[in-house]
Amino acid sequence: MVPPITARKAHTAAPEGGGSARSGWLVAAEAAALAAFAVLLTAHAARTLRLLEGPGDAAALAVAALAALLAADLGSGLVHWICDSFFHVTTPLIGPAVIAPFREHHTDPLAITRRGFAEVNSSNCAVMLPPLALACWAAPPAAGSLTGLLGAGFLLFVAPAVLLTNQIHQWAHRAAVPRPVRWAQRRRLILPPAEHARHHEGGATVAYCITTGWLNRPLDRSGLLPALARMARPGRGRFPTLGRA
Ligand SMILES: [Zn+2]
Ligand SMILES: [Zn+2]
Repeated sequence: MVPPITARKAHTAAPEGGGSARSGWLVAAEAAALAAFAVLLTAHAARTLRLLEGPGDAAALAVAALAALLAADLGSGLVHWICDSFFHVTTPLIGPAVIAPFREHHTDPLAITRRGFAEVNSSNCAVMLPPLALACWAAPPAAGSLTGLLGAGFLLFVAPAVLLTNQIHQWAHRAAVPRPVRWAQRRRLILPPAEHARHHEGGATVAYCITTGWLNRPLDRSGLLPALARMARPGRGRFPTLGRA
């Protein structure tokens, strides 16, 4: 059961209001990107649903959906681990834009709750626009092609899962979330606050996955990430994290 959010520590209780002042051009670009995502995802969904010819295809689509959620969760964990564990805010190119937000999140976990939907989700939206555009531009899979259906179905579910990963992360830090979100958190369909609290309370060395959190326990138990870090940085002992890279 998810502990009462109001009883949780500071990183899970969000203040009201706030938000950062941003340029009008940036706000417009984010809105345009999200609108383009909605159009492309709708078009891709229509093309994918036209491939369904029976119960077997529906089962294949369900398999694709499960694989997409697992892939999004794994991707979120690997990106999060890399950005928490390596590089520095002063690293050229990626430091200020990519690494800094991850480091800031550990010094001010509630900052993410003071940002609007577009600001939180536009970067992941930009990541998924090219594959969605490519899928809509390319010829649709041949009717009856299981591979084509699995591929189209995977993209249909992984795109919104990736888009919403930062939003799901924000919800895990908010004191109040819409009722359907709380329902999904309690059923572990999306990252529950208690699961994500392990990351912040564990010194940012565990529970990196922030889409569903399904892969956190297997990854933590496997020891894979510390082993990879030791391979990448031999002789450094305990794997680096949070600016010690
Ligand atoms: Zn967090
Ligand atoms: Zn982190």
